[in-house]
Amino acid sequence: MNNTPPKLNLSRRFPDNMTTAHSLIIKAKNGEKGNAKGQRYAIPAFNVTTVQGINAAFTAFELLGSSGLLAFSNSALKHFGGGDPVFGLEIATAYVEQKAKRSSVQIATHLDHGDYTSEGGRKVVQASVQMLTSVMADNSTDKISKTGMPLEKNIELTREVVDMAHPLGISVEGELGVLAGEEDEDTKSEFSTYTNPAELEKFLRETGVLMIAPTIGTMHGPNKGKPGTKVRLNIKLAHELLKVANRIDDNIIFVAHGASTLYPDVVKYAVAQIDKMSDPSSVRQKWLDFVGTDWEQIQGLIEAGFCKINTDTENRQTFLSALLGSLTTSSAKIDIRWYDNVCTNALTQSYIQKLIMAGDYGVWHKTKLDVAKFKFDLNASLKDILKVCLI
Ligand SMILES: [Zn+2]
Repeated sequence: MNNTPPKLNLSRRFPDNMTTAHSLIIKAKNGEKGNAKGQRYAIPAFNVTTVQGINAAFTAFELLGSSGLLAFSNSALKHFGGGDPVFGLEIATAYVEQKAKRSSVQIATHLDHGDYTSEGGRKVVQASVQMLTSVMADNSTDKISKTGMPLEKNIELTREVVDMAHPLGISVEGELGVLAGEEDEDTKSEFSTYTNPAELEKFLRETGVLMIAPTIGTMHGPNKGKPGTKVRLNIKLAHELLKVANRIDDNIIFVAHGASTLYPDVVKYAVAQIDKMSDPSSVRQKWLDFVGTDWEQIQGLIEAGFCKINTDTENRQTFLSALLGSLTTSSAKIDIRWYDNVCTNALTQSYIQKLIMAGDYGVWHKTKLDVAKFKFDLNASLKDILKVCLI
């Protein structure tokens, strides 16, 4: 492939307060908040799978003045669309666009792990290019043989997506290397490979993607190691890869997948709820065995230029933990909105916490809460927590 890939069309206009993932993340890479330029931060990409997830994320973005990045996996879109991911796209996009209209911050919508290797996957990527503001073209794994995709083939398929998306102003994320672990049916692999710097250079030059997920040791899912062990990321390799990318174009952004840093207090809370159930033993141990990535390691990645941090597991755990809590508090309230609110408010707390950790606040306006006073606590209601920290 000798011809130059098309550049991202920056003059595309999106619906009110919507923008590409790339334009939000490049601000984070350059440390831009309002008119000021400060420290580098990251944008957590929240994988939303339900309307509650979207609502909770918007509340968190508004409170913090954060850049908002909502990611949808194929299976999430299927869930929204009652089995049909393209219909799910229509529903989710319409919902997000209506909410964005009233938003005080900028929002991007992103297809997570879009798959251009299969016919079904291609359909979803093509529809996403029409409806979302950003897509991932993950062609790193051959889904049939369950091995790493040959580099040339990964480049060819990813380039097809760039050719289609960049002229329309839609940013594209590629993936090079294979990530281990399991998040849901879209991301499941028993093996992993590190990204090779020479391959990264070739991949970036030939595909033209401005966002890339290299693998440096992160894992998908809630079990990132044996209980009691720590996940080890190859930060040295991350820096080496960043040098390669910056040489080509300093608008290139690194994305960390499998970057969920779990909340120990959420696990503690869940275990306390499980203990109140009749036979909790097996479920209880599963909760205690969950292993996430240490936040210090993620901070190392942010410094190395990973400015999109994909987080899902800890948010799901928070939701489920709160659901357990709502059932042990009262399982006789015949108003499902009550349970819905408990879970959505817990999820909002989880998102606020993650946005603060990543430094993604005060970007579009001053925060409405004192971040130093915010305390994530499932034993308290969101209303009571905000009473203490709202400015
Ligand atoms: Zn991922």
